[in-house]
Amino acid sequence: MMPRTLACVVVVSVAFCELVGLSSAPAADATAQTPAPVIILKLDDLKFTSASAPIAPRWLQLADYIQKNKLKASIGIICSSLENGNAAYVQWIKDLHERQIIEFWFHGYDHATHKVDGVDYSEFTGRPYDEQKAHFDKALKLAEDKLGFPLHAFGPPGGGTKGTCDANTVQVMADVPAMKVWLYPQPMDDVGRELEAKGKVTILDRVWAVNIENPLFVPSLAKLQAGYEKSAAQRKYFVLQGHPTHWTDEGWDQFTKICDYLTAKGCVFMTPSEYVQSMSKKSAGDRVPPSGK
Ligand SMILES: [Zn+2]
Repeated sequence: MMPRTLACVVVVSVAFCELVGLSSAPAADATAQTPAPVIILKLDDLKFTSASAPIAPRWLQLADYIQKNKLKASIGIICSSLENGNAAYVQWIKDLHERQIIEFWFHGYDHATHKVDGVDYSEFTGRPYDEQKAHFDKALKLAEDKLGFPLHAFGPPGGGTKGTCDANTVQVMADVPAMKVWLYPQPMDDVGRELEAKGKVTILDRVWAVNIENPLFVPSLAKLQAGYEKSAAQRKYFVLQGHPTHWTDEGWDQFTKICDYLTAKGCVFMTPSEYVQSMSKKSAGDRVPPSGK
C-alpha cells in the first residue's frame, strides 16, 4: 500500500504538470537533451601532383563541398610536398587556411616507409628520438616558411608493419612547442592520458566503429550509421578519417551521404584546433555554444 505522504506528492506533481502543459508533451528523451557529438573530419595525404594540376581533383571537389555545405574539415599535409609544390599548390592551401574552412595538419615529412633489419617501419616508428624530431622540425619549418602559418596538429602516417608511432614520438610531441593537438591513431590509452596530463597536447582519439571508411579507403554510410547509433550518446566528438584521393565516385557519394546524415543528427563540424579551443572555453565556464559549423 502506498504511504499517504508519497501519494500526495504524486498527485501534486501530476497537477503541476497539467498546469504548465507538460502532460501532453512527448516524453523527455534523455539523448535528445545531450548535444550531438562534434564531428572532426581528418582527411589524409595531401601532396603536390603536377605543375599542370597541382591539386588532385578530389581535393578540389572536397574543398568546394565543405565550403558550400558550411562544414569544416582538416587535411593532413605530407610536408615534403611543400618543397616541390609550385606556387599554385601553396596558394590553394593558404586560401583555405585564411577562410578558416579547413585546418591543415602535419602528416609526416615524407610519409615514407623505411627498413630496419629487413622489417618495414612507418615514418615515426623504428627511428631514434633525434631522427623523429628532425622530421618534425624540418616539416614544421617548411610549413612556416612556405605557408606563413604554423601547423598545430599531428596525425602520424601509416605504412610498415609496426604501427604508426612509438614512445619516441610521444616524447617528440611533448617537446615540440608548436604541437598542440594529436589526432591519435587509436582509442585513448594510458600513454595518451599521460601525455595529455602534462598540459601541452590535447589528444583527439578514435572510435573504430565510427569512421568514414570501413574498410580502409571505402566510405560507407551504413557502417558509420551502425557505429554512430551505438556510441553517439557516450561521445563528445568523433574523429572521422578518410583518404579522398582513394575514393571512387561511389565512395564520394557515400561520403556526402555521411555528412548529410550527421548534419541531420544535429552534429556540428569543427576543425581539430577549433574543437580544442571550444573545450577550453567550456572549462572556463563560458556558456556560449561553439560557433563552428
Ligand atoms: Zn597517410
